[in-house]
Amino acid sequence: MDIINKIGKKATETYKMTAERTGKIAKEAKLKMEINNYNSNVQELYTEIGKKVYLKYHEEEEITLDDIKDELNKIDTITEQIDKANDEIMKLKDKVKCKNCSFEMDEEFKYCPNCGAKNDN
Ligand SMILES: [Zn+2]
Repeated sequence: MDIINKIGKKATETYKMTAERTGKIAKEAKLKMEINNYNSNVQELYTEIGKKVYLKYHEEEEITLDDIKDELNKIDTITEQIDKANDEIMKLKDKVKCKNCSFEMDEEFKYCPNCGAKNDN
């Protein structure tokens, strides 16, 4: 392979790597934005719960978990979405979470550096 071809190949490889990194950074930014939106939704639901509790108090009525079941279920669903988005961000960074202690570690680690549990991700 002559020198011109070598330079050309190297430039293509560098371009590919940069494009891949840029793609990952853009994906991470998008996921972080999604997480921010989810967190605002959770805050709104907490506010709704607070209002319901206050109105019950105001009307001198008892409040039960059933009265706020919808909000609680929505918070559970959104929390799952947040966990998924966080997992995706870690995958983009080639990281995984320890199943025992949730420590963030490199994908290729055989054992968790924090608690010593086997990494079976
Ligand atoms: Zn661990």
